[in-house]
Amino acid sequence: MSPAEPKAVRGVVRGKVQGVYFRDTTELRARSLGLAGWVRNAEDGTVLIHAEGPERELDELVAFLGEGPPAARVEAVELEPVPVDGYEYFGIRGIGSGSFAIQEHLATRRHFDLRLEVDGVMRSWALPRGPSLDPFERRPATEVADHTRDDARYEGPTPTGGVIVWDRGAYEREGLVPWPAALDRGRAEFRLDGEKLRGGFALRRHTGRGERSQWWLTKRPDEHARPGSDVTADQPRSVVSGRTLDELLRGG
Ligand code: MN
Repeated sequence: MSPAEPKAVRGVVRGKVQGVYFRDTTELRARSLGLAGWVRNAEDGTVLIHAEGPERELDELVAFLGEGPPAARVEAVELEPVPVDGYEYFGIRGIGSGSFAIQEHLATRRHFDLRLEVDGVMRSWALPRGPSLDPFERRPATEVADHTRDDARYEGPTPTGGVIVWDRGAYEREGLVPWPAALDRGRAEFRLDGEKLRGGFALRRHTGRGERSQWWLTKRPDEHARPGSDVTADQPRSVVSGRTLDELLRGG
């Protein structure tokens, strides 16, 4: 194996490593070394890291992790070799990328709309069959015009029917390519933290570009996946008002 062949390590840094700019300085150092991967704060107070690139630069990053920034107190760095994932950059994970919403909407047809906040607008896809938590279901998604954040919060009557806010929350971008380039390339992964939808999802474009392009929305097979479930039938109510769309249309 040539020394220039990229390698990858993944693991955990323990100690006083959160709230001390550990993620930020790790990202800066990794980028300056030309490494790719990610760093994130874990819920148990540790820092998780995946780094890949040339062995010599990886060794330099590992040496940095053993010290950390000045306010850190590193107790242990536990890394192990893993396969190279092919990341294109080094980024901080676990920071909310913005808000998301899913609205149920009666217009010409009844459908759901997925809206993801990207650069201040809500990128939007119409979901004729809604979303699913079943990782074996792929749901068609048609890209539609960007909407505003106010549009994504709206619930009530519309000239042609009505709309409820079926789910909402924060989301986090994932995958190997930064956004919005990932969307431009037609392959975007993200993690939803909604009231009904949680965990990893993927959007993959299969036909066309821009508005009216056709995508698939799929649930990743993680701990939030519910094979065989039908979340839109099981949980039909607005997360804002508790109404169903039918109740809203009847004026309830
Ligand atoms: Mn719509």
